[in-house]
Amino acid sequence: MQVRTRFAPSPTGFMHLGGVRTALYAYLLAKKYNGQFILRIEDTDQERLVEGATDVIYDTLKECGLNWDEGPDIGGPCGPYVQSERKHLYLPYAQQLVKTGHAYYCFCTKEELDARRAAAEARGEVFKYDKHCLHLSQAEIDRKLADGVPYVIRMNAPTEGETGYHDLVFGDISMPNDTLDDMVLIKADGMPTYNFANVIDDHLMGITHVMRGMEYLSSTPKYNLLYQAFGWEIPQYIHLPTVMRDSQHKLSKRDGDAYYSDYIEKGFLTEALINYLALVGWNPGDDREFFTLDELVQAFDVKGINRAPGIFDPEKLRWFNFEYIRRLPFEEYLKKVTPWFDKVLSAERFDYRRLAELMQDRTETFADVPDKVRFLSEMPDYSTELFVNKKQKSSLESSLDALKMVEPILRGLPEWTEAALHDTVIAAIAEHGLKNATVLWPMRIAISGMLSTPGGAFEIAYLLGRDETLRRIGQAIEKLS
Ligand code: GLU
Repeated sequence: MQVRTRFAPSPTGFMHLGGVRTALYAYLLAKKYNGQFILRIEDTDQERLVEGATDVIYDTLKECGLNWDEGPDIGGPCGPYVQSERKHLYLPYAQQLVKTGHAYYCFCTKEELDARRAAAEARGEVFKYDKHCLHLSQAEIDRKLADGVPYVIRMNAPTEGETGYHDLVFGDISMPNDTLDDMVLIKADGMPTYNFANVIDDHLMGITHVMRGMEYLSSTPKYNLLYQAFGWEIPQYIHLPTVMRDSQHKLSKRDGDAYYSDYIEKGFLTEALINYLALVGWNPGDDREFFTLDELVQAFDVKGINRAPGIFDPEKLRWFNFEYIRRLPFEEYLKKVTPWFDKVLSAERFDYRRLAELMQDRTETFADVPDKVRFLSEMPDYSTELFVNKKQKSSLESSLDALKMVEPILRGLPEWTEAALHDTVIAAIAEHGLKNATVLWPMRIAISGMLSTPGGAFEIAYLLGRDETLRRIGQAIEKLS
């Protein structure tokens, strides 16, 4: 069997992480079996469309490396791949179902439906279309159609028995038919509903495995009835558990943790995000954690998809990101970190290359970088308490002595390099019979005002340059005196 999967987003906003994960799994399954991954844009609900959303879908998938084999921009044997461009194609299928008695014209107006819905609700019932128009005579239907009375086409769902299917993750799912609504297939404007177009296209595009969020678990019996009515082969269903913030909460737009772009803006690497996202709801069956996209393709197996909701743990993602950043080739890290340095520093004044070397294995997300390096351009207002450190044998008094000792040495240093700083200061410490930490701790605090810094006293002094280093040491001496 030639495996064909698809990602079928509706362009209604940014790319949700759950959507990225659905696309990822669909891609992995197709690639694992040398099949095709198809992108289809489901835009039949014109009212919900958001401008620019389609581009966001394209860009996100491309950035993630989820390249499609057939899709709107590249075409393919089953095109077009945008539903609004296929709209002429659905009506004949609905008419075919009308002929076989699996669907019917419905002329009920919105007012009539609203009144019946209100009445049902008043009786405490869930409203479901009452098949009123199923009972119209053929002559009546023909007359209304000839008169141009607006209509929709509805599915004629059975009212007895059950409709079930097998889901590869959730197992056997079955719904009593009397709970099924006679869903609309073709709307009054001639457009298919999402439900109808989805089924027709999955069939016409030869989709073998339908992967989507579990919110469709209970609609799928209705889709199956359509497949049966057409006599089409039913695809394999793989519904995916929701990506959650914790057991109670979904990722939400309001908390800024729902969209792919939220994470890129916060300085996460796409590769780290994809790696982690793959593991939210799926496990490889061993304890491996690091996967490139190609390795995921090799390792992926539907059997590893969990039924339980996938908890998206931002701390775990930070850890992945940290590991990915640490492993970046240095030049790439430098390129990526530069705009974040630029937010608080300038390349003319600071040696970005050296700073990047010091920062690379201290970066969890790029968004944390500005706060970690701002002290270079802007001396923070710090408390002298920072000088006191028992372990480093540093007190207020010893700090003052150390700074007074080191200040003239720095002033007279012939060249301002890390090596010269190191050799000269270490020699002086030895000469005075002191411990390194007793001098280097206060020196670092004095020039950074920070408890933890990228690099030690010499690296920071080098980055700051002589004048600024001396100015900061002078200030510290004043503070301590
Ligand atoms: N257009 C649907 C959505 O965006 C896709 C459902 C499906 O994959 O069948 O949720």
